Amino acid sequence: MKPGTGTETIQEERTDVRQDEGDHDRFSHYVEKGKLTEAIVNGTPVIALCGKVWVPSRDPQRFPLCPQCKRLYDMGPEGRRREWEERAGRSASGQPD
Ligand SMILES: [Zn+2]
Repeated sequence: MKPGTGTETIQEERTDVRQDEGDHDRFSHYVEKGKLTEAIVNGTPVIALCGKVWVPSRDPQRFPLCPQCKRLYDMGPEGRRREWEERAGRSASGQPD
């Protein structure tokens, strides 16, 4: 331990090590197909089912499927819409009709 006043204890940060890079964000996410193609062509970000926003790469690698995306995907379009509406309703203070 080295004495210091800072809070730089990065080395102590332990993550669940499964992948080599220690990048917890390495998941495959579900995105609408049309949007994905468009995003790759234009270099614009896409939004996954789980809400993750990123710029997809032309050459996607194989990552484990994002558990949240899978859950939402399994719900189907109807279930997703309900989930999202619920989420939006919870954060908004207005009264939905
Ligand atoms: Zn996801």
